[in-house]
Amino acid sequence: MSLEIFSGHHQLDEQRIQKAATAAFCKYGYINSQVELIIVSQKKIKELNFKYRKIDKATDVLSFVIEKKPLIGQVIICYTTAVKQARLSGKETNEEILDLLIHGLVHLIGYDHKTLEEEKRMKAIENCIKQRSKMAKNFIFLGPPGSGKGTQIGKLTEYLEAKVISSGDIVRGLAERNLGIRETMKKGELVDDKVLFTEIESEIGRINIETSLVFDGFPRSISQAKELKKILERNGRKLDSVVYVYLDEDEVVKRLTTRKVCNKCGQPIFELEVCPKCGGEAMIRQDDNEKTIRTRMKVFLAQTKPLVSYYKKMDALIEIDGKQSIEEVATDIRGVLASA
Ligand code: AMP
Repeated sequence: MSLEIFSGHHQLDEQRIQKAATAAFCKYGYINSQVELIIVSQKKIKELNFKYRKIDKATDVLSFVIEKKPLIGQVIICYTTAVKQARLSGKETNEEILDLLIHGLVHLIGYDHKTLEEEKRMKAIENCIKQRSKMAKNFIFLGPPGSGKGTQIGKLTEYLEAKVISSGDIVRGLAERNLGIRETMKKGELVDDKVLFTEIESEIGRINIETSLVFDGFPRSISQAKELKKILERNGRKLDSVVYVYLDEDEVVKRLTTRKVCNKCGQPIFELEVCPKCGGEAMIRQDDNEKTIRTRMKVFLAQTKPLVSYYKKMDALIEIDGKQSIEEVATDIRGVLASA
């Protein structure tokens, strides 16, 4: 595989870059890879971007690779993009920037492969993500009900040691002893913020600071997002990325009216009567009926969807197409988080 780096940066130290890229390739299993550095003008980069698609952000580079799946391995990296992404991750040197980018790109290039070699490489990358997670990360999963957030979080935590904080589970626990909350939930509306904030903060407080966190179903409004920022700060943490799994309303209704979940751990169960994870029973959730689903979707559009542009402005948003198969969504998420 060869990597062509197009850069408009004049002060680029060619030798260092070439050395760093070769080292990064070896690290991820491409022992005989060629690295060719092509220095071009800013104008040329603009032309290239125009020819393929406009690339201004690091996540655009990744989605370009996902879309085109360039199996021959010709990848165009705009150096300024690399710098931006590296800054976001607190990295500076050329070596680190390339390592970061190649890590994500190599993973995505291997997207469709199922050979033993590829499996090994995927494992190596997952280990790498694990290593990175030693610095605890904090992720939010955002998406309409039924977008598959829960399933994807389950898959992610199979290789990323992280604690999941699910506001839906917290609310279901509270609803057992509170009629008001039970009624709100049954209608598909949002429960009072304050109750939830206290519960969420005390749950975070019980988790070791070195453990990563994944928020499922929280925040669901701008006010909750603002409060979460404060809660994280008070607990010595900061938000890293927001994964937004998008899906249209008809697909939401279709999925939810036919889904079953575990009565013990809440994980979705497909085509089985017993939960493969904890042995609980498969059941239909009380709020998975068409009327409540439509209300939940309305609430999502009115209160939660604004979070998409809120986090986009903060450059924290990663958008994933939830209509793909479970495995495809998981691969996309793994790819973007590898370089996040
Ligand atoms: P979920 O399992 O995430 O679909 O949540 C089930 C129900 O719990 C929702 O329909 C709401 O009534 C309530 N709920 C969950 N998370 C929140 C939240 N962040 N804010 C307010 N209500 C919530």
